[in-house]
Amino acid sequence: MLFPELEARVAEVRSRIRAAVERGGRGQTVTIVAVTKTHGPEAVLAASEAGLADVGENRVQEAVAKMDAVSVPVRWHLIGHLQRNKVKSLDRFTLFHALDSGRLADAVHAFGVERGKSVDALVQVNVAGEATKGGFSRAELEQQMVKLASLDGLRIRGVMTMARLGADEVELRRTFAGAREALAVVKGAGHPATELSMGMSNDYEIAVEEGATMVRLGTTLFGARE
Ligand SMILES: *Cc1c(COP(=O)(O)O)cnc(C)c1O
Repeated sequence: MLFPELEARVAEVRSRIRAAVERGGRGQTVTIVAVTKTHGPEAVLAASEAGLADVGENRVQEAVAKMDAVSVPVRWHLIGHLQRNKVKSLDRFTLFHALDSGRLADAVHAFGVERGKSVDALVQVNVAGEATKGGFSRAELEQQMVKLASLDGLRIRGVMTMARLGADEVELRRTFAGAREALAVVKGAGHPATELSMGMSNDYEIAVEEGATMVRLGTTLFGARE
């Protein structure tokens, strides 16, 4: 078995999530998205066997290779940036977490219309305003969400964010609370948005306290990446 400790790690993560929900007092349900990037298809099999039904990949090509290699009933999440000329690949994913611009939204909408079924996506918000990170700023969200609500090939189901690498607890809470406020803005613009995708191996407990409904976990489940 390639990931012998996975079941124990899943149990540990679930118990930490339960405790964090309790501390946060928001009562939300939290989905674990098992991030299998850089690992082989066997990580997907292991995740499925350990009871995880959601798998996240950040690159389309790598994801599709794994989808073709395993046939387990998991939901695939695309958690990384997508180029506009690759929107058709969204057909193979349950949820796209990284809708990061109005132009990409237009392309995703066009694809949703073309295939006759809208695409479910989360808008990525750049709460900390980092130049190196993609996503909508708070100001762009306010400007663009109403327009996006008219794109019927696209359904905005919530918000995704990533905290700054090395952020301390105060900054993490500020970032995650900012994403929660962004979700309220998105909802207010008329989107069927309920999901808050935030929290990775190093910061998921704080994210859950702040209201995360999806945590994206790689390292803490599968060990360090090469
Ligand atoms: C790799 C990745 C993760 C998982 O990171 P870990 O720190 O290994 O848990 C989560 N979200 C995104 C967008 C990623 O690219």
